[in-house]
Amino acid sequence: MSADKYEMVVGLEVHVQLKTRSKAFCGCSADFGAAPNVNTCPVCLGLPGALPVVNEQAVMLAARAAISLGCTVYHSSVFARKNYFYPDLPKGYQITQFDEPLATGGTVTIDTGAGERTIGITRLHMEEDAGKSVHDRFPGETAIDLNRAGVPLIEIVSEPDMRTAREAGAYLRTLRQILQYLGVSDVSMEQGSLRVDANVSARLKGEEALGTKTEVKNMNSFSGVERALEFEFTRQCGLLERGETVVQHTLLWDASKSEARVSRTKEGSNDYRYFPEPDLGPLVLDPDWLSMIKLSLPELPDKRKARFASDFSLDAEDVDKLTADSELAEYFEAVARATGDGKAAANWVMGEVQALLNTGKGTFDELSVRPADLAQLISMIRDGLVSHAAAKRIFSLMAESGKPAAQVAHEHGLLQVGDDAALAGWISEVMTEHPEESRRYIGGERKLQGVLVGFVMKKSAGKADPKRVNQLLVARAEAAVGPG
Ligand SMILES: [Zn+2]
Repeated sequence: MSADKYEMVVGLEVHVQLKTRSKAFCGCSADFGAAPNVNTCPVCLGLPGALPVVNEQAVMLAARAAISLGCTVYHSSVFARKNYFYPDLPKGYQITQFDEPLATGGTVTIDTGAGERTIGITRLHMEEDAGKSVHDRFPGETAIDLNRAGVPLIEIVSEPDMRTAREAGAYLRTLRQILQYLGVSDVSMEQGSLRVDANVSARLKGEEALGTKTEVKNMNSFSGVERALEFEFTRQCGLLERGETVVQHTLLWDASKSEARVSRTKEGSNDYRYFPEPDLGPLVLDPDWLSMIKLSLPELPDKRKARFASDFSLDAEDVDKLTADSELAEYFEAVARATGDGKAAANWVMGEVQALLNTGKGTFDELSVRPADLAQLISMIRDGLVSHAAAKRIFSLMAESGKPAAQVAHEHGLLQVGDDAALAGWISEVMTEHPEESRRYIGGERKLQGVLVGFVMKKSAGKADPKRVNQLLVARAEAAVGPG
């Protein structure tokens, strides 16, 4: 395979929609999913005379992201007009930042599976989004939805530091996790609040100079990014191997065909005729305000992982799962603190809670089993009040009703029965219903004990205390054999 001679060089540009109520330079709602063109005004439509005003919340979120990625945030940066014609850009230009961006430098540390690697961040700047062309609404026509025009974005540009598609995937997942913890974005690729463009080139292994890069766009999942990079790298290797040259194109990834096709030859920055946005002054940030943001930063994924591992004695795999999402991590921590049992809390959160969320209960906000309720259930198992089997039933009833564990257990008669008379009654019934197994068990086939306990658990709908059932069965067998 000729590709073995070559090395992939990847840099990523990630566009992240900031979680603000209104757009970057006007008061229109930035919500996703509204009816077409409802969220528009003279400013975001670029009508003559309308003046943009910077959304302070957007600047705050952008600064929060930049500081957390270790960037240098400048006390003064400049908004610029990037001029180009596009159907969904009615102004004919996009407000972005160019030669004086909000922040430069910074790093993201990724776990490649074979150790850690540090990926450099070149710059982080603020800009506004364009609208959207809609091709499937009217047959043969293109419609324009400008709800998204003017929505605040940050663009995070990495150094060309990634060498495999897998590293690119790890970088994206880590970056998304950090941004999610920071609460600066919904980071949803499906809703377009996180979009990725990849710059990829191939060079002979050991070479220093970078090859000609192409830009791949239109990837709508992280696995799509990885597949697109593999595809484009293989294509470039093929060209180089045949002695042809790589042309600096922009390619669009077609996930359904798993191939990238050329969309246009890449413009240089001269083609955009950038100039400072005349309607906005420089973006000046107060150093005290920046220090306050720094102080208000939450615990980031790396720190939380280390803390979970030591506080709750969990292995790396569990910690990774529990910290994947900040809401999940917070939920778990609340349960673990309330029960004092990290392992049990981890098992329940990764098991039943995750399963409940996956069935479409959606978010932690909508989850009817609160951490304190789950903690109570775990304590009830530990205290022998309910069996494991009954606890699972209680959990699903709690999810339906939103009632606390103890109340559900009482109402549905799911408290564990350790009372000998009741247990003896169930055992006798089971022995009558399964004479063959009972005869053999009493006759000395002790391995049948588990089967009989199973029958009792089933008969009692999970309420019987299995430990006590075992003891009573042993007593019966011994009584039948007689002492000595
Ligand atoms: Zn507007």
